[in-house]
This record gives sequence, C-alpha cells and structure tokens, in this order.
Amino acid sequence: MTLSHEGLPRSLLPSHYDIKISEIDTESNIFNGFVSIDLTVEESTDNILLNIRDITIKTIGVYTAEKKPIHVKKFDADLKTELLSIDLEDKLAKGSKIYVSIKYAGIIQTNMSGFYRSDYKDEITGKEKCCLSTQFEATDARRGFPCLDEPNFKATFSIEVIVKQDWIALSNVELHQKEVIENQGLVKYIFNKTVVMSTYLVAWACGDFEYIESFTERLYNNKPIPVRVYTARGLKEQGQFGLNVATKSLDYFSKIFDLDYPLPKLDLISVPTYSHNGMENYGLITFRSTALLFDEKTSDTKYKQKIAYVVAHEVAHQWFGDLVTMDWWNELWLNEGFATWVGTLAVSYLYPEWEFFTSFISTSLQSALALDSLRGSHPIEVPVYSALDIDQVFDDISYLKGASAINMLSSSLGVDVFLRGVSLYLKKHKYGNAKTNDLWKGISESSNVDVTKLMDSWISKIGFPYLIVKKTDTGISVEQNRFLSTGDVKPEENETLWWVPLNISTGPNPEDVLKNNSDSWKFFSSRTIEIPLDTTKFFKLNKDSVGVYRVFYDSDILSIIIENIDKLSVKDKIGLLADTASIASAGLGKTSALLELIWSFKDETDINIWTTIICRLSKLAQTWFEQPLEVQVALKKFQQEIYSHALNNIGFKDEETDSLLTKNLRMEILSAAGLTSVHMVVEEAKRIFKNWEQGKEEIRPSARSFVLSTVLHEDASSNEFNVVLKEVLEPSSLDAREIALTSMGHLTSKNEQALLPKAVELLLKPFVPEMDVHFLSSSLARNNETRWLLWKFIKANYDDLYKKLSANMVIMDRFIKFSLTNFASNEAYDDIKDFFADKNIIGFERSLSQVLESIKANAKWVNNDADDVKDWLARNKYL
Ligand SMILES: [Zn+2]
Repeated sequence: MTLSHEGLPRSLLPSHYDIKISEIDTESNIFNGFVSIDLTVEESTDNILLNIRDITIKTIGVYTAEKKPIHVKKFDADLKTELLSIDLEDKLAKGSKIYVSIKYAGIIQTNMSGFYRSDYKDEITGKEKCCLSTQFEATDARRGFPCLDEPNFKATFSIEVIVKQDWIALSNVELHQKEVIENQGLVKYIFNKTVVMSTYLVAWACGDFEYIESFTERLYNNKPIPVRVYTARGLKEQGQFGLNVATKSLDYFSKIFDLDYPLPKLDLISVPTYSHNGMENYGLITFRSTALLFDEKTSDTKYKQKIAYVVAHEVAHQWFGDLVTMDWWNELWLNEGFATWVGTLAVSYLYPEWEFFTSFISTSLQSALALDSLRGSHPIEVPVYSALDIDQVFDDISYLKGASAINMLSSSLGVDVFLRGVSLYLKKHKYGNAKTNDLWKGISESSNVDVTKLMDSWISKIGFPYLIVKKTDTGISVEQNRFLSTGDVKPEENETLWWVPLNISTGPNPEDVLKNNSDSWKFFSSRTIEIPLDTTKFFKLNKDSVGVYRVFYDSDILSIIIENIDKLSVKDKIGLLADTASIASAGLGKTSALLELIWSFKDETDINIWTTIICRLSKLAQTWFEQPLEVQVALKKFQQEIYSHALNNIGFKDEETDSLLTKNLRMEILSAAGLTSVHMVVEEAKRIFKNWEQGKEEIRPSARSFVLSTVLHEDASSNEFNVVLKEVLEPSSLDAREIALTSMGHLTSKNEQALLPKAVELLLKPFVPEMDVHFLSSSLARNNETRWLLWKFIKANYDDLYKKLSANMVIMDRFIKFSLTNFASNEAYDDIKDFFADKNIIGFERSLSQVLESIKANAKWVNNDADDVKDWLARNKYL
C-alpha cells in the first residue's frame, strides 16, 4: 500500500462526487448532507478511508458500478485523525469500480471555516441577517462532505443545494436547473458537473444576495464569459471596481498563459465574516468585503490598490492552483508564490501608473527577507503533515519569498520567455497535479537554461545570501554568505551557495548594465568571484533590487554610490536603504550609516522610497523604546525634521492634477508626521476632527487614517475615543472598522491615562470580531506606550483570548505573530518564553519561535548600536 503524505492510501481513486445539501437550519446551525463518491479500485482492499470532521454519519452504502450492494462489515469515525474507516466483508477486486453513498448531518460553523455562517446587518432594512458560504482550504472540505480531502485526489463534482425561497445559491459552475419544492417554501439549485478539480476548491454559498455583471471582451468557445460580483443586498454597486479588474484579469491571464479560462462563468462574492482576504475556489471566489468592494465616495483610495491586487491574485489562481494544482501542501508556494507574482504583473498591466513592481520591492521583497533572516524561517518547500502544519506555511515565505524568487528568475530570463515556459507547464499538467520541478522543466524548455539547477537552492534551502563587495587591485571581489538578522552565521549554517544574478548597474536606465562575455556573472553561484572593473566610477550590484539578496559594500565603494545618487533608479534607492538598514540591525554595519543615507534621500518625492524610510525609521524608534528618554526625544526630532522637509516639498494639500501615488504619498507622510507630533500636522488633524465631530465637514475618506490616528495619538480624551469607537460599533463605510481599530492602537496617555487599558480591553469585546482583531493588536504592538500593556493584558486574559481566537487557528497564529514581535529586551524574551512554556502552542509554534528570535535580534541591535545612534544624534544637534 502506498501511503500519501497525510495517510490516505492510493488504493482507491475518486472520479466523481454527487453532493446534496439540504435542511439548512440556521436556528440550530445544522444541515443534512448526502454524498455519493465514485471510486476506482487501484489496489485490492477491503477498507475505504475518507476524511470527515464535525460530521455525523447516518447511513452508509457501498455498491458496485452495477448498483449491487457490497456488504459493509462496520464503520468507524475517528475524531482525532479525522478519518472515517469503512470495513467491507470482502476484498474489492483491482480495477473494479464502486461507489459509496453516505447520508450525514453536518454543522454550520461559526469560525470562518468549513460550511459557515456570516451574520450581518442588512444595508437597506437594518435587520440582522445571515448568509452561508464555504472555506475549505486547506483541509476543511471534510467539514462539508466526507471526501478524500487531499489536493491530488482530483474528481468532478455535481452539487445540489436546497435553500429557502428568498435565498439564492451559488457554486463552482453554472446552474443546471432550479426546482421549486411545492408547499415547503424551498428551492433546489442543481448545478452542472464541474471540471476535474481538488476538494479544497469546491464551494457553495447561499443567502439573500444580489449581483452586478459584465462580460469578457475575449471570446471563449465563441462566447464571452459572464463575470459577476455578488454581495449582500444593498452593496452590489460597490462591486463595480472589483468586477472590472476581475473581467480584465481573466482575459489578460488567458492571453499571457495562451490558455483559455475553462469554466463557463466566474463569480466573485463578498462574504461579511471572513478570515483572509480572498479564496480562489474554482469559479466562485470568496472575499473579505474590504478586499472586493469599493465605494468611490466613502472608501480610502489605498483600498483600491489592495482590491485590484487581491482580485488579480485570486483570478490568477484559476490557472495556478485550480487548473494545475500542487501535488501536496509542501509545495504550497507553487500556488501562492506564483499567484502573488503574476497578480502583481496583472495590476502593473492594468494600472501601470501605480508602479506596482516598485512597491513589490519596497514591501513584499523586504517582508520576505525579514522573515527569512531568522533561523526559525523555513525553506520555500517545506515538509508538512497535519492540517495545523499546513496552515502555518501560508506565510511570507510561501507567498512573498516565492514571488520574489520568481521575480528574480523572470527578470533574468526575460518575462516573455518565462511566461512561455509557464504556458508549457500549464498545458502539460492541466486538470492534474504538478511539482516544482515540472514548472522548472517548462521554463527550461522555453529558455534553454537549466532552471532547476539555478533555482534548487532557492526552493529547497532556508535563508538567502548577502554579498560582501570589496575593492581589489583590478576591480572588486564578491563573496556570498548566508544573512541572519543577528549577523552571526555559523559555518554549519553557511553551507548553501545560491545562484545570485549580479546585474551590475552603471546608471539609472534599463540598459545601463555592465556587460561581460562570460556567463559567470549572470550565473554566479560559487562562494567568491573576482570582477575586473573601474572602481573609481559609479557601479552598484543588484540593479533595480530584483535579486533576493542583500549587498554590503566597503566604505570607499559606498561613498562613490552615495555621491552618484542620481545614477540610482527608484528601485535601486529602495534596495540600498533596505540593505543598509538590515545590515546595520544585524550588526554587520552601523545604524548611523542608515541615518546618513536617509538624510541624503530627504528630497525624494517617490512614495515607495518614503514608505521605506518611514518603515525603517519607525522600526528604529520602536526598537529604541527602552533607551533613555532624551535619546528617544532626539530620534523623534530627527523624524519630525525629515517629515516636515518632505511635506514642504510635496505640499500639504492635494491638487487636482496630483496622481493617485502623489496623494497616497502625502497621506503617508502626514500620518508619519502626525505620529511623531509635528506641530502643524497635529493642529490640522485636530481641526479636521473637530469639524467632522460637529458635523461641519466630512473627512476625506483617504484622510481618515491620518486624522483619527493623529488625534488619538496626540489629544485623546474620552470624547475623541468614543467618537472613533463609534466607527467600530457602527462603521460609516466599508473600511471604517478596519481604519478605526488601527487608529485606536495609536492612542497615547497624554490626556487620560485610563484610556489606554480601555483600548486594550477592546480586544475581547464581542463587537470587535475575530476577523478584525489584528488591526487593533498589531497597532497596539507597534505603539511604544502600549506594547507592554498589551502583553500584560494577553497574560492576564489568555484563556479568554485563546477561547475567542483559537476556534480558527489562523486567527490565533496571526494574533501572536502581530502582537509580540516588537519587543527589544532579554527581559521581554524571557517573560514571553516562560509564559508559553506550559501552554498549548500547537497551531502557532512556528510564529512564536520566530517572534522570540526577532526579539533577541532586536535586543542585540540596540546593544550593538545604542552608542552609535546616540553619537550621531548628538553630532547632528538633535541631542
Ligand atoms: Zn493565494
């Protein structure tokens, strides 16, 4: 018997499921189900194993293909292993076909997984309502129907759902027919048979929905495809932007993959209670409402970019993940890394003015490198066995390091060549499962390069390198070593040699690359290399910061780079800032060098450069939060000066002619200035807040984050607190609760001390839903005044918090990760470690160990550079 990863034998292979969902009872949260599974006997066996969870079996029948009963000896459901074992009287003959029919009762979940309910207030009537939808990834299809719940047991599905008459039902493919059930007030929705697909992508949803619709421009089998956005009643118009992105993305991906979307329709639905941002169920994508719906009048424009990206990402999965599926969850990155990269590509195509790949370099790549510089990181491809293991690899490594590695490869080979390889891969494996090497084979074929060789260490090994660049008599020497956030790599941790495309830049334009006639630079993968070049002239490695590595120059070379700042592209500047910051915090360089560099970028007007500066300065101020007060004040003075300088350059007020990015930049700087108490900015925020509170003036949607955060940070009394709290209780727009909760985390104690504990206590209030807790907790954790308060609250109320958040371990994991990571002392490290020593940490053990390691690294950074920073501040008259 060949065992697959999680335990289901491959002796029986499913080919088709008939699923009937009925008697949906939203009073008692139960439903009735029927499933019939067609199985082919691959190896003779007298046992059938299926996955089930939260399901009560009523009857089981096993039959031959000719409908003759096969005698069932006994069946047994094991809660722990989530297995239903059916023992048969006789062995099934190899090659025969059978089917298993099961009647069962299931639970309508309330924890955002399986077949679950969302409660919400109707937009039009204000009445409490509920709707139901499914979230089966990674291993919760078994909560909806007994099945072989592993991605490589693909089959077709015929689904029926009976709902009350005033509801509608949706599923993966189009409706075959609708039957009214006389005198019962019910309607049966019978859907067509799906294509071959994995169980985790099966979906259905039902409720009082409405929709808007558009059609693709491209023809599929001579017809355009209808694309719809479904919402709860009263919200459909806000789906217009997402609908537009989805329709265009569908055509875009069909074109670049040279492979048409194979389903007859695509539905996107906004789900009121939702754990993630989106889920790529085949043909029926579900979304958090703020990741799909946008109101031109009331939404913050930042959400527009998020929606475009999340929609494009989920639509990309229709090919990558849905049509071709990873063989097992250890290769999750194949789904997520690719969807992340190609989702970015689609947004860049649809909205080139948004510079999406530049923001990819300043955010996604940096998050990936930050996590991957911990010893507790993991290779992109990682062994996983249990459901809770699987949930924990939906992280920045699978998504962002995966996407960054793909970005590096596609840039080196050329995006067209790369996509041609992807297309070969998709065509070869469509409706099947594939492994990473299958993707490399396709790209090797299109590029004539041995891609498996280049990418192997990136995929199978933990970490990434940093390059030490030194002057030699004839040019430079380059040496690669593994980068750790603590800078103390041991020889046994430093054995991997990565493929590092050097891409030596000589200027800001794409063609300004130092040429040579050997492949050794392009395919550098040894420990060291010598490169002849004129070191008196400008050069910089890793042009446009596309490579997944950091570079550390000796001081002579660095000064030439800084003297020639106009020769750096925006992406180069971002990379240089990020590398300098990370190398300083790892103890390999000095933090004063970062401060110098930031100052030399003070006249920049690019949003991604500024988000990098703000992020690195905030991180420094957070990490320095237990340093003497005068040092903290001096750091704040530096921040105030640089943000004021930036505001003087770009202006306080939006002009008609400003681009979206300029407007977003202004808001970023205003927020940063507000949170560092720049007087003029604080006064402006207070004025806007007051007028808004008194009903004299609306706050512009995109200014809410800045105004609410600044006012709570600077001038909070119960009055301001309650005004913002009202936005949590009764959000006045789609995004209002997320914005208000984030703002509440910026509260400080200038006016009313008692407000701080009040803000932390909100975490347990029932009106702060599990799905939104992290907006508040992550902001409280970044706030120097509430970091310890938050941790003390967690300790004192751990049982209640665990109870609230652990019904869905993804939520609990996220809470731990975001709440504890910003400490910077051994005291905090010991306290957190001790506290969890006797706790059940299954489901967040990976995040907890990463949190602890980050705290150690932060502590080490302060220890190394406290004097260096103090001296720099004094030298520059801030201290
Ligand atoms: Zn995804």
